[in-house]
Amino acid sequence: MKTVLIATGNSHKVEELSLAFEQEGLAIHLVPMTQYVGNIEIEETGVTFEENAFIKALTIHRLTGLPVIADDSGLEIDVLDGAPGVLSARYSGEGATDASNRDAVRLALSAKGVNKSTARFRCVLCYMDDRRTYFGVGASEGIIAMEERGGNGFGYDPMFTPENSTRTYAEHSQAEKLAISHRGSAVKNLALHLVALEDDSGHSSIDDPLPTTDALIMASVSAVVGNFGQLRSTIRHFVRDMQDAVLLHEALLQSYLFAGFPVALEALAVADEECRLLLGDLSWKSAENFDVQAFAERGELLCQRVYGSVYERMMDRLKAITSELSSWMIIEGYGKTLSRPELDIVRRELCIVGILAALERENQLRSHVRGAFLVGAAEADLRSCADVVTEICGKRQGESILRLILLQEATPLDR
Ligand code: IMP
Repeated sequence: MKTVLIATGNSHKVEELSLAFEQEGLAIHLVPMTQYVGNIEIEETGVTFEENAFIKALTIHRLTGLPVIADDSGLEIDVLDGAPGVLSARYSGEGATDASNRDAVRLALSAKGVNKSTARFRCVLCYMDDRRTYFGVGASEGIIAMEERGGNGFGYDPMFTPENSTRTYAEHSQAEKLAISHRGSAVKNLALHLVALEDDSGHSSIDDPLPTTDALIMASVSAVVGNFGQLRSTIRHFVRDMQDAVLLHEALLQSYLFAGFPVALEALAVADEECRLLLGDLSWKSAENFDVQAFAERGELLCQRVYGSVYERMMDRLKAITSELSSWMIIEGYGKTLSRPELDIVRRELCIVGILAALERENQLRSHVRGAFLVGAAEADLRSCADVVTEICGKRQGESILRLILLQEATPLDR
């Protein structure tokens, strides 16, 4: 059974979540983080439940290196414009208790001249290990009222009556509450991802090492779709395995050609931060002197390899539209960036395929799936790339690669 730390000191949450995971049939043993790091205070500086869950998971994962599930939850009261929201645990201020928070809600409702309001509990779970970050979200609608009833549960439970019920959450058993609660639905939602990590034999692949090329594709794809949680965990996993980050740096650097400078800059800043934490001081390779002639020659050769028999046609078409952009593509794209020796062209092409599939650039994707084959990628490499894209972006994007693999099989390549 897999051990996962639960990033909360709240024993009610540990109990509820353990039961919920058990009900989902997931072989996960939740261990309170306090057993590893004591009762540390994690500052919840986020303005959304997602941000706070992520901050908690990241903090505990960095401290322990272990898989973690963090939870952030709270109550949104409509008549109070969504308050207490992310401040639910500390609504009544310094030294807040469940009872003082409920009093604060009563006071706020009175100030609005009402004694009840529609409201909802929200819960966001964030799973993080060396390799992956997944979120699960859930909500439960209901009514919050002045009166308290029931002795079960915690927090605002005695004041909250879920929709389709006449009893407050505090009058529900733990199992009854879980079946309809925000935490129960967030667990179900997260379980969809976690189940996908188990192979047909029921063996969990959470601990398996991530092959280098897949990690590079995963980092590239996460960067261009702005999934920085996933990007960080991929980087950590990669750097721990390889004790090196040059390949990663190269893969992220080239992303500017396909997804723009801001994306590459943001991704490299994240990589720099994570790599320094694990490897200490780093110095990346300094830029080559800009030698137009050398880059033009290098670029042309590489571009010919990637485009094969359609190279001439493609260049003619490009030059007819914009001769300046076509020479930038050769000199800066292929000559200066993609032919840097730190990362081989097969891996570069696979990362590019992942990026283009994620960004749903159909035409460019077709050229680069073909290009990947032309520079020597195996079909299995491209299928693996499709799996990574499916995992991060979804089935549609992953399948766009699979479709093109079939197309290549039908039209033999001119190597
Ligand atoms: P946090 O997720 O630890 O930041 O705190 C969430 C706060 O929201 C708790 O301290 C409770 O006040 C409230 N809360 C979250 N879920 C529930 C629930 O299921 N019942 C009652 N109160 C809840």
